[in-house]
Amino acid sequence: SWLTLPNPYDVPVEICAGPGVPIEPAAIDELLTVLQTAQTLEALAAATPGLDAEPHVDRVVCTPDFHKGAGIPIGTVLRTTGALVPQAVGNDINCGMRVEATSLTVDQVRPHLDSLEQRLRHLFFEGGRRIGLTPAHREGLLRYGLPGLLAEGVPAGVSADERLHSAGYPAESAADFGDWIESGGGTSYDSIIGSVGGGNHFAELQYVSAILDGRAAYEWGLSPGRVVLMVHSGSLSLGHQANATGQALARAAWPRSVPMPANRILPMLLGPQSDRYLTTFNNAANFAVGNRFFLASMLRTGLAAVAGELDAQLIYDAPHNLMWPGADGTVVHRKGATPAGGETPDLLGEPVIVPGSMGAPSYLLRGLGNTRSLQSACHGAGRSIPRGAASRGSDAELDAFLREFRVVTPLNHRDPAVTGRRDILEAWRRDLKQEAPWAYKEVGPVVDTLRTAGVAEPVVELQPLLTVKG
Ligand code: 5GP
Ligand code: MN
Ligand code: MN
Repeated sequence: SWLTLPNPYDVPVEICAGPGVPIEPAAIDELLTVLQTAQTLEALAAATPGLDAEPHVDRVVCTPDFHKGAGIPIGTVLRTTGALVPQAVGNDINCGMRVEATSLTVDQVRPHLDSLEQRLRHLFFEGGRRIGLTPAHREGLLRYGLPGLLAEGVPAGVSADERLHSAGYPAESAADFGDWIESGGGTSYDSIIGSVGGGNHFAELQYVSAILDGRAAYEWGLSPGRVVLMVHSGSLSLGHQANATGQALARAAWPRSVPMPANRILPMLLGPQSDRYLTTFNNAANFAVGNRFFLASMLRTGLAAVAGELDAQLIYDAPHNLMWPGADGTVVHRKGATPAGGETPDLLGEPVIVPGSMGAPSYLLRGLGNTRSLQSACHGAGRSIPRGAASRGSDAELDAFLREFRVVTPLNHRDPAVTGRRDILEAWRRDLKQEAPWAYKEVGPVVDTLRTAGVAEPVVELQPLLTVKG
């Protein structure tokens, strides 16, 4: 279940693989190119007098959903010392998954799915969301995450609960704040707040269909039939802005004597420059946590309207595009990989969220703190067909799928105003086929691989009830 990838740079590269989870050769080629960064760091060190330690690439881990990405494969964990690599996080800074357990059961929700679909369409896409943030809310959120947001009071249009907090990524100085806070004086209803984002981002209702680890399930408040919310979203335009800042700072800090690396990956030595970048980075990361919180709140609002009052409890907010600078000068970067820390006195293992695909089961696991995997697991089943590749599946197959499964999109394909518009429907079908279950791997073998490799133990299987897709 583990393969070690030999490479000319002597970097330990561990691949977590298993039956039914093929490794993409193109992703291996891409990774070998990424490893040239080991040489870039040597060149940077040679051109930089007065460094305490040699910056280097410590270790690389590939998760079971490893596949080709833009520059660096999805499912890559990269640990460096003395430097950070902005591109090793992915474009969507702090893209992640949030899961909450509700007090409702599937039997209480299923009879209301038609009205719930309408409600959610209104809330997510038809101007129904009215999340009002004051400048103090925005600043609190960007600086300190949810604790910073809620310190300013619960924003208008949001349902919040003490148990729904999760930590922020403190960003003390306000380097590049300006553009992100603007909105003059009072409360504003920003259109970006509470949007799902496109592609495979989603806000999904699921229920517990099988308990695989009774002790952990109990601890997380999960029993058979329990309804669960799963949200997949990132930092929207803020992450892209922070990335642009990262690129600009890396270029500005680049020594003239070192040629631009052939693999176009620009690391940054740790220092004032990287601190500045991390401030902007953390602002974007905090926004993502807030947006997942808002999306979950919208799902709760919709549910409460059709099924009555409910309680909800955060199980976890798991980032999968993020970097973790340590006090020891190491930086763990995860691009499309999720943390899987082990048991602590408070927790039977860090919750690992592994979604399957639209209409397919998902899993929650508990991390085992495996050091070989850099305490990391995959963040999904992963694509089997690259996005943008000719989409498989006929219109008839897609329509059959949509009759079986509830997908709420900005376009209501059953709306009489749309049913005659072939051009609009064609584009919509093309996009949706990219996200259909047949574009993704089976999640079962992926979960088995994590278990066999000693990375994480499955806790519950979840079946979807409804998915909101941006
Ligand atoms: P990412 O875009 O972050 O690389 O991948 C997210 C993962 O979510 C994918 O690998 C896929 O397994 C999963 N996924 C994509 N769309 C959906 C969906 O609509 N519902 C669920 N449950 N999972 C999905
Ligand atoms: Mn993601
Ligand atoms: Mn994303």
